[in-house]
Amino acid sequence: MEIVFLGTGSPIPDANRAGPAMLVKAGPHHLLFDAGRGVVMRMAGAGTGPVLLSRVFLTHLHSDHTTDFNDVLTTRWVMSPIENPLKVTGPVGTAGYVERTLAMLSDDVSYRLAHHEDLNWSPPVEVDEVGGGVVFEADGVTVIAEPTDHAPVHPTVGYRIEHEGRSLVIAGDTVPCEGLDRLCAGADVYVQTVLRRSLVESVPMQRFIDTIDYHSTTFQTGETAAKGSVGTVVLTHMVPGPFPGSEHEWIAEVNEAFDGPVVIAEDLMVLEV
Ligand SMILES: [Zn+2]
Ligand SMILES: [Zn+2]
Repeated sequence: MEIVFLGTGSPIPDANRAGPAMLVKAGPHHLLFDAGRGVVMRMAGAGTGPVLLSRVFLTHLHSDHTTDFNDVLTTRWVMSPIENPLKVTGPVGTAGYVERTLAMLSDDVSYRLAHHEDLNWSPPVEVDEVGGGVVFEADGVTVIAEPTDHAPVHPTVGYRIEHEGRSLVIAGDTVPCEGLDRLCAGADVYVQTVLRRSLVESVPMQRFIDTIDYHSTTFQTGETAAKGSVGTVVLTHMVPGPFPGSEHEWIAEVNEAFDGPVVIAEDLMVLEV
């Protein structure tokens, strides 16, 4: 299987990093994990698009992870020659979120229905709300969800994708917790959204410092990785975005607890799992 890092940014706008989104290609399936700022543009950069997705998985409903979900939905609807339901899996609350997104889009939907003779269906969406367990199984691809801890954002889930004996964890925003440990146990690749505590603490702005208590730090990511004996750690959604040339400092902090390879994701980076 392959993971394409579509967006490796965080809420902080960054010209070189789109919002959190990852495309996993496993067997015949294209699976999208989160749909942050610029996701459809980055999918085009990766040579694909919303029409081809088997399913969208949301880790949680924070805006940085969902900003451009509406673009995934609209683009798939308008570009599909036949009715092509968008299947969405996410934590409890996702169905309401999707419903409200459709309400937001209702003006646009009515314009396009009025204009195109051959388009006579509204955007079809099917939502699965999940808290844990096997949430997708097809053609030898299995996706398992576990609850994570991003309080007060609740509920949230992380995912583990398995295909042909290989495993990939997309943790989402979370502090270390039992659900995350279960996802990571023996995983080949562990992708963690991460912040660097010393840098965040150095910014004299309480609203920024508040983010420390609900994200994994670099050190915690190393501890989770070591506990799960994972193969490779990939850091994404770095807060704040690393200054060019400082990447080795981030990696060294993960390596305090974990002595395997650590990679810092860039937009459109492709990793074979
Ligand atoms: Zn979040
Ligand atoms: Zn986030």
